[in-house]
Amino acid sequence: MTNQIASDINSKTWQEQLSTAVSHPSELLAILDLPGGLLAGALKGDAEFKTRVPYAYISRMESGNPNDPLLKQVLPVDDETLDVSGFTMDPLSEQDSNPSNGVIHKYKGRLLLIVSGACAINCRFCFRRHFPYGDNQLAGESFQQAIDYIKKQEDIHEVILSGGDPLAASDKRLKKLVEALAEIEHLKTIRIHTRLPIVIPDRVTAEMLNWLTGTRLKPVIVVHTNHASEIDNNVASALRKLKRSGVTLLNQTVLLKGINDSADALANLSHKLFQADVLPYYLHLLDKVKGAAHFDISEQKAQNIVRELMAQCPGYLVPKLVREIAGEPGKTSISV
Ligand code: SF4
Repeated sequence: MTNQIASDINSKTWQEQLSTAVSHPSELLAILDLPGGLLAGALKGDAEFKTRVPYAYISRMESGNPNDPLLKQVLPVDDETLDVSGFTMDPLSEQDSNPSNGVIHKYKGRLLLIVSGACAINCRFCFRRHFPYGDNQLAGESFQQAIDYIKKQEDIHEVILSGGDPLAASDKRLKKLVEALAEIEHLKTIRIHTRLPIVIPDRVTAEMLNWLTGTRLKPVIVVHTNHASEIDNNVASALRKLKRSGVTLLNQTVLLKGINDSADALANLSHKLFQADVLPYYLHLLDKVKGAAHFDISEQKAQNIVRELMAQCPGYLVPKLVREIAGEPGKTSISV
């Protein structure tokens, strides 16, 4: 680890670490001592979707290895510019399930709030890489409109904070939101889908634990981890802190070609998650978003991988293979 990376991780708050994230492919290549020949393609991908990687995440990559499984999740490549049939700008048609700013209501009994348009990291495979976050967040008037909308939907028992990454919002804002939600009687659970504790483990602060566990709503966090190398000691300790504070902790993974598309890679990930008090929950087939076709795995290959995984791991360490289908009222399970 370079001095610059060590100092960023050891001396900065999570907000400072967010603001110093690497935002140019040439910087990422230089830090990791990678060939300059990768830059031309990286710039083309970067023009489609900006590069963004905090030092805390880079610290877990192997220097000099262009095939590092963490690097491949964040380094833009020219394949992202290809137009591939079936890969679209809004693969889940979320823009059709958007009753008011910052609200996505596409599941029965649950509803998503887009709390922050920002992410700590820009994952190249992200299904929301083209989603108009800027116009679609809980800010100003839309905050109260969203609360009023939820009050009227009495069948909703769970609110899912999503994004971007909801934990990119300040603790003050999140506390206000959770307090307002806790006053709605029919709500029982607050679920947060986030990659921040994995990317910048310092995000798990005492202040965060206060608003998250000091509410009558049952707190659930679904972290997003794709490879065992993402879980170093700092990440494991942040996750254990959440678990010991009473948070139910689950993980979702996206199956990605060249990154985690083998039973061994997934078994390693499941074991590492379990050691950090997290249960594997979902294994997603890639959402067919424009620019991510090079990560795609066929359904049949995914089924074979999961079958092999079942032979290697106890049932509680085998995530459920699912796909999201636009218009369906929940995730669609894929039998194996
Ligand atoms: S929404 Fe999640 S997957 Fe997409 S870029 Fe942000 S952190 Fe990555």
